[in-house]
Amino acid sequence: MMGRQGKLKIGVLAIQGDFAEHIAALNRLGIESREVRLPDHLEGMDGLIIPGGESTTLSRLMDLYHLREPIAGMAREGKAVWGTCAGMIMLAREITEDDPVPMGLMDIGVHRNAYGRQVDSFEQDLEIAGIGPEPFHGIFIRAPKIIRVGEDIEVLASIPSGEPVAVRQGSLLATSFHPELTADTRFHEQFLRIASLTAGEMDSRRGGGPEQP
Ligand code: GLN
Repeated sequence: MMGRQGKLKIGVLAIQGDFAEHIAALNRLGIESREVRLPDHLEGMDGLIIPGGESTTLSRLMDLYHLREPIAGMAREGKAVWGTCAGMIMLAREITEDDPVPMGLMDIGVHRNAYGRQVDSFEQDLEIAGIGPEPFHGIFIRAPKIIRVGEDIEVLASIPSGEPVAVRQGSLLATSFHPELTADTRFHEQFLRIASLTAGEMDSRRGGGPEQP
């Protein structure tokens, strides 16, 4: 990856779930990443990926390590944050279940495990806005369903039944599926474009301006 994106530092929440696959995808793109396990690890990061896994465990560990507030703060500052699957559940405004308590950062409503149990996991080729015309192979594992989208939500991809499975709200991204489980890095590149845009905007607000070549 060239230019500014090559200098981005991306944190990957590494307390539970398939964080290693996200780190591997970022490595393939030549991006420096950091495993985030404590609030200090967020220092200097231009973006954060919250991986898939099990959202009640994820939520509990986020509280145990006092990560909830710093992550929410990072998103409110305008930095890029992307949640896949369980990560998406944590970003939602509301979920249909009592557990976990989501962070409420994106104006979406989510229903956990709505596509069925493990045996009902499925794969679906998707057309995703902004990553080119080639279909993207979506892998859904006990995936959460987006059942409500707010006005500021941009739907990037839907499955044939019409349900959205990839959404964006400013610098925040959420996917019901797992791009990190495919060799296709186009969705990670999309996230990096958003992260580099927001990092650039923050630099110029600080008076730093774009970096010289
Ligand atoms: N079913 C999980 C949950 O509700 C999410 C599944 C995943 O992240 N692959 O937390």
